[in-house]
Order: sequence, then C-alpha cells, then structure tokens
Amino acid sequence: MKMICISCPRGCEMDVVQEAGEVVVKGNACPRGEDYGRNELINPTRMVTGLVKVAGMRKPLPVKTSRPVPKGAIDAVLFSMHQMTVQLPVKIGDVIIQGVAGTGVDIVATANM
Ligand code: SF4
Repeated sequence: MKMICISCPRGCEMDVVQEAGEVVVKGNACPRGEDYGRNELINPTRMVTGLVKVAGMRKPLPVKTSRPVPKGAIDAVLFSMHQMTVQLPVKIGDVIIQGVAGTGVDIVATANM
C-alpha cells in the first residue's frame, strides 16, 4: 500500500506491505514513518473534532477527542457528539463525554464558554 507519512511536513512517500505476518515499511526517512505506516495498516486512527449543543444557546461548543480513535468508531463518536447537550460554564479541556462510544477516549472542550 502506498501512503504518505503525515507525521511531519516532509511527507515521505512510503510503501507499506505485510509480508509473512510482518509489516514492512519502505521509503520512510525516520522511525516515526515506520510507526505511522504500521499503525495505518493495522489499526488506523484519527482525531475527531465536532460541535456539541449548548443548553439555551444557539452557538455550539467546539470539541475534540482527547486521543485518536479507531477509524471504524468515528461515526459512533460523531453520533454521540450530536446527541449531547452541555450546560455552561465550560472551560477548555473539560471532559464533555467520558469514554465516548466505548472507545475509552474522552471528548473534551476546545473553547471557554
Ligand atoms: S518518515 Fe519521518 S521524516 Fe518522513 S514524513 Fe514521516 S516523520 Fe517526517
């Protein structure tokens, strides 16, 4: 599988294949690329950002996951964000949803309101 490492601005073009049960990464200029390629092949994850409703206000609260979540869980994470309504006040970093969608990852506020 061809992929571009996004761990730094250099953007190395890599070949990532599974050979005899081992993940082989070629084209990376540093070890971070090998980690990125292996994770992308075996368990790709992403940070998720979104908006959560605020009780009594039209303006929503911007939020994000505290860590990357498996790509397969992104829809469930977004659904949980959509279902949530928070009460003010909220500070940056406050946990809005603990262990969202069974991932063990929290949803945290990214703004003070
Ligand atoms: S492999 Fe290393 S140098 Fe290349 S893009 Fe990834 S982090 Fe940057």
